[in-house]
Amino acid sequence: MQIDIEAERKEILNRYKRLIKACKRRLEKGEKEIIRKAFEVSVEAHKEMRRKSGEPYIYHPITVAQICAEEIGLGATGIVCALLHDTVEDTDLSLDDVKGLFGEKVSQIINGLTKISGVIDNTTSIQAENFKKVLLTMSEDIRVILIKLADRLHNMRTLEHMKREKQIKIASETLFLYAPLANRLGLNAIKTELEDLGLKYTDLETYNDIEKKLKETEPERKKFIQKFIDPLKEILIEQGFKLKIFGRPKSIYSIYNKIKTKKVTFEEIYDLFAIRIVIDSPLEKEKLDCWRVYSIITDFYHPSPERLRDWISSPKINGYESLHTTVMGPEGKWVEVQIRTNRMNDLAENGYASHWKYKDSFSEKESKLENWLLRIREMLENPDPDALEFIDDFKLNLFSDEMFVFTPKGDMKTLPINSTALDFAFEIHSKVGEQCIGAKVNHKLVPLSYELKSGDQVEILTSGKQAPKDDWLNYVITAKAKSKIKDILKDQRKKVAKEGKEITERKFLEQNLQFSKQLISEFCNYLKLPSVQELFYRAALGNVDAQEIKDFIKFKEAPVKKGKQNEISKIEQLVTSARGKSDMLVIGDDLKKLDYNLSQCCNPIPGDDVFGFVTELEGIRIHRVNCPNAVKLLSNYAYRVVRAKWVNDKLISFLAGLKITGTDEIGIVNNITKIISSENHINMRAINFDTDGGIFEGTIMVYVHDTKHLNHLKSNLKKIKGVNRVERIDEKS
Ligand code: MN
Repeated sequence: MQIDIEAERKEILNRYKRLIKACKRRLEKGEKEIIRKAFEVSVEAHKEMRRKSGEPYIYHPITVAQICAEEIGLGATGIVCALLHDTVEDTDLSLDDVKGLFGEKVSQIINGLTKISGVIDNTTSIQAENFKKVLLTMSEDIRVILIKLADRLHNMRTLEHMKREKQIKIASETLFLYAPLANRLGLNAIKTELEDLGLKYTDLETYNDIEKKLKETEPERKKFIQKFIDPLKEILIEQGFKLKIFGRPKSIYSIYNKIKTKKVTFEEIYDLFAIRIVIDSPLEKEKLDCWRVYSIITDFYHPSPERLRDWISSPKINGYESLHTTVMGPEGKWVEVQIRTNRMNDLAENGYASHWKYKDSFSEKESKLENWLLRIREMLENPDPDALEFIDDFKLNLFSDEMFVFTPKGDMKTLPINSTALDFAFEIHSKVGEQCIGAKVNHKLVPLSYELKSGDQVEILTSGKQAPKDDWLNYVITAKAKSKIKDILKDQRKKVAKEGKEITERKFLEQNLQFSKQLISEFCNYLKLPSVQELFYRAALGNVDAQEIKDFIKFKEAPVKKGKQNEISKIEQLVTSARGKSDMLVIGDDLKKLDYNLSQCCNPIPGDDVFGFVTELEGIRIHRVNCPNAVKLLSNYAYRVVRAKWVNDKLISFLAGLKITGTDEIGIVNNITKIISSENHINMRAINFDTDGGIFEGTIMVYVHDTKHLNHLKSNLKKIKGVNRVERIDEKS
């Protein structure tokens, strides 16, 4: 590829000019020259290097410096360090050179940055101990961490050029360490961007899906926001407020997080955006003004009392100040409203960057900055000397189904949540798992069944004499540990069963019985054991005695009782006739011919995925595939299960339950019953309503034809004023 050196040189200069423009206002005399010098040194040092994208490497430090200036608000020293941040690590420039050229402070910060990338970027797994050590050493100058965040942000923005494995490593690390760190430092905008990019590179499909849905629902959302805002704006302006009021959709990541942790669908939460009201208010009147706004809003919209958050009287640990309330908006939708001043808004979005802007009084500004730095230092120097404790602070609400635990050497392992010490042992190695006798978690002795938490440090204790036991299967949740334990138990049983076979043979001979396969299997049936293997196993353990064999002989000689046999064949017959020619039970058309009914535990209706389950006394029961009992039935009694499907028959009605929640509006019950009775062919069987403190909750049981029919009713009910949520319930409670 032909590279146009001249064009590149021009572009480098352009980028440099943009950087200077971004920070010029804050520079003091002589500082521009130092930045120029750092720029030139960096250009020279990186001149032969290119990024993965093919661009000149110097674009990266310039952009990082730009982020530091614009989005974090660092001054000249920070910008100089950002420009030089990769030189000592990646080029011939030494730390001494930097010290000679830019002095002690800059070289100290560069040293910190070099160490961080040595420890964090270049190891395959993050070691908690090291991470804390590095951060602690560097917290002497907080700019190390801030520049590192800017560096990471730019790397995330340009991650598309990396190999897939690298992308996954960097993106996971970002979600694990850097996004929570940005959050801790109050850098909300950076946190949000890191999270969204982190999701994009770890789960592109989900990311695209949410992004697409957000776009599709945008017009509708905008219309609603306008409807919500308009009357408020008018009255607030009338009351003399200078303000900005707007709707903010949640970030892709926070929507993803909500879907995952609260187990809801996008459709249920997409309208959960926040309305933000930012007012102009002098420092001494901030609190009063925010509460005045609150009072005006709640004259308009009914607030939910449990959802008031006053972070003005007591700001969050990262400095966040704001007043949050949730009110019932038009169309019966809950809407979160955030009330804050311009100063608070800047602080929330840009953290550190915003401090320099507020110059009401110089000493006040200084003391606030001091305070903030102090708080960060405290956080990093956490009095508890345990490094893992520190990692625990970064606990991820993000990977809600995964956790991170550490070996004594600090290697990180990922396990599903609720994993135990024994799972961890098998994760290390199956031999370690087999011989595990216990563990030390954070230096405390715990049993095999101990449930681990994210951030735990685990040391496994083993013994050559140990072997897996049956109940170990109850102690593990990972598939790896489960299958390994099962394999070993099977082997053990086989060995034991071999001994057991000899014992049984001998016992049979003692009773003058000729040992044969046929006889053994009859004996097994007689004892109601699932397999011959099980019989031998019992025998080996001494659990088969002569009396049982004698009773068996008596039973064999007695006239044949066919009771049990009959039951089994009855089930077989039922199963066969239910399956019919198509190997499938068709529900709806020959209701009368076959003896079946709909189970009460999940109330299936046409449209649901269902299966038939043959019972001895009550014929065939139809269950939903997602019935709470389905797993048990399908796994234990597969031979009794009949595949089933519905035939559309409008004449048949099925019972289904709905739960309705919302606010207690006048006439709401009346409106609900009106809707139900106006729907064609829907009959109500039971209805039950309850209100408590303005919150309304009702359950109704209705007869419907199928899921389509039910969904239609649900969407009509949702339109009623005051109704917030309509969901299907399984049981008539
Ligand atoms: Mn870099």
